[in-house]
Amino acid sequence: MITYNAGNYDVVVIGGGHAGCEAALASARMGCKTLLVTLSMENIALMPCNPSIGGPAKSQLVREIDALGGEMAKNIDKSHIQMRMINTGKGPAVQALRAQADKYEYYREMLKTLLSQENLDVKMAEVERIETVNKRVTGIVTRTGAKFGCKAIVITSGTYLKGRIIIGDLAFDGGPNGQFPAVKLSDSLRDLGLALGRFKTGTPPRIDRKSVDFSKMIEQPGDERPLRFSYISPRVKRPQLSCWLTHSNKRTHQIVMDNLDRSPLFTGLIKGRGPRYCPSFEDKVVRFSDKKSHQIFIEPEGRSTDEMYVQGMNTSLPEDVQLKVLRSIPGLENVRMIRTGYAIEYDYVIPSQLKPTLETKEIENLFTAGQINGTSGYEEAAGQGLIAGINAALKVKEKEPLILKRSEAYIGVMIDDLVTGDIDEPYRLLTSRAEYRLILRQDNADLRLTEIGRKIGLVNDYRWRIFCEKKEILEKEIERLKETTFTPADEEMAEFLTGKDTAPLRDRVSLWEILKRPEIKIKDLVEEGLVDDNDLDILEQLEIQSKYEGYIKKQEEQIKKFEKMENRAIPEDIDYSEVFGLSNEAVQKLNEIRPVSIGQASRISGVNPADINVLLIFLEKKRRK
Ligand SMILES: Cc1cc2nc3c(=O)[nH]c(=O)nc-3n(C[C@H](O)[C@H](O)[C@H](O)COP(=O)(O)OP(=O)(O)OC[C@H]3O[C@@H](n4cnc5c(N)ncnc54)[C@H](O)[C@@H]3O)c2cc1C
Repeated sequence: MITYNAGNYDVVVIGGGHAGCEAALASARMGCKTLLVTLSMENIALMPCNPSIGGPAKSQLVREIDALGGEMAKNIDKSHIQMRMINTGKGPAVQALRAQADKYEYYREMLKTLLSQENLDVKMAEVERIETVNKRVTGIVTRTGAKFGCKAIVITSGTYLKGRIIIGDLAFDGGPNGQFPAVKLSDSLRDLGLALGRFKTGTPPRIDRKSVDFSKMIEQPGDERPLRFSYISPRVKRPQLSCWLTHSNKRTHQIVMDNLDRSPLFTGLIKGRGPRYCPSFEDKVVRFSDKKSHQIFIEPEGRSTDEMYVQGMNTSLPEDVQLKVLRSIPGLENVRMIRTGYAIEYDYVIPSQLKPTLETKEIENLFTAGQINGTSGYEEAAGQGLIAGINAALKVKEKEPLILKRSEAYIGVMIDDLVTGDIDEPYRLLTSRAEYRLILRQDNADLRLTEIGRKIGLVNDYRWRIFCEKKEILEKEIERLKETTFTPADEEMAEFLTGKDTAPLRDRVSLWEILKRPEIKIKDLVEEGLVDDNDLDILEQLEIQSKYEGYIKKQEEQIKKFEKMENRAIPEDIDYSEVFGLSNEAVQKLNEIRPVSIGQASRISGVNPADINVLLIFLEKKRRK
């Protein structure tokens, strides 16, 4: 192929999925001339699987992306068809907002944002090669011969690298959702010295709403309150569409068992490792054979389509078996299948080859983000895309990189897990992965991260003003509640407490302490005229911060200890084989991962506390020298 010079950019982002959109917008908004290249203009911010954003750990991620100046939260606020707060019976650390998206509107809104973004060009092409000089990126080459020069590249190729679709015994090269795969980029990455692995994921069939009998299902309506992901979206309630719940049964499971010899998962046709926490339906039936039924949610894919997503039934069984399985489920007896479920295998970059900035250790100014790093999930992809885009821009501007700590953000937890751990299945964020989850709540992401976003130039004046106003009111109100006190002699307060079925006061007590009582809700204090009827976000903060103050303080103490380890930096150029006293396994792992701090080193599997002590002594000696 004869190539031609097609232009020069500061940053090129390969891919227009959830990671690519955030990376490109961040880079352009930080003032870098940016190009986003995508295989298709129709797959921008595509949701090839569940049309939903948020849920446990993921809603925290979306709010963090928002606080840093990213796009996902605003985009889902504009395009959702249902919004629900889940886990409301549990503590604030695990409560989560979840939205059902109109996947077409989500795509259109994101495309509009990309195309109207200053400093950003969008191009449809297949990138085949990364060009480098002296192990530093210089540009990309597309299949049609366009050569773009650039200073930094962010690859966000999702599940497209050598994508292979599998349905029963049928297997063919393809990307998700009927798209083309990216055929050559994997080879270019291997030529650059990167090690790739192979994972698989799967998706359920889509069915025709007109063929579903909803009278046999349980309706799952949205919340009545106007909920939002972004701290700056207007509080408007969009008309809500319901989802529906039904269940598989003995007959469904028997159909699966009778056809296991045609399942590529069991015949060995599928070789890539899939996510254990999100098994296919056939895997669930086999692994949990004592379960009589599994939940199946029927979810609309948008307002302008009759296609519905069958959540809980991701499968790669042959098409005829898929249809039989569906028709054995209450409400789906006469169902028509619009799209067949499938599994997809794809190449990913083994993420221990990355620095915590998401730059590859091997090639300077080459960043990777999203599913290419072995993760799964739109939110995980968007979070990484944002950080990779920010760091690519900061590198081009020769500024200090942004690395979020595990104690600051779920994004920090995720990236640290990826670059430190042994990822042997598609990685998904779970609340259990975060050790400081009472601090990393979805409700306080703005308080944790907006200032960081402002410093790097992604938080605009409008968001900054809203944030500063909120912070000021909140701080003043907390102070006021702590200073406003009552004694047992205050009759109105005594009456109020009796009305709420809570003990009378024995000493002088502040309103802040009264709010800590489980029987007292912030809305009670508002109704009593004791607290101003402030914005809902402020009232929520007052309630959580007072009720959980003790636990929060404890976790803040733990974070101080943790940060001591995190702040002990390890120089990049250490040859661990020369550190006397380290175990062989530690030497091998440390040389491979090259941790940036003692904290990160201590989280590498195979590096034990004795190795950390040896390392601390070595670093101290080196420092004295
Ligand atoms: C079948 C299936 C089932 C899934 N199930 C779920 C699920 O249930 N829940 C969930 O949260 N996530 C699920 N996922 C994962 C989710 O879709 C991804 O994690 C998420 O979309 C990844 O975002 P990304 O930006 O990394 O990549 P993608 O969204 O896949 O975007 C990749 C982008 O890269 C572009 N691209 C690739 N190669 C090239 C190239 N060489 N040149 C130019 N452009 C290129 C593509 O055009 C595309 O725009 C599923 C994915 C698939 C495919």
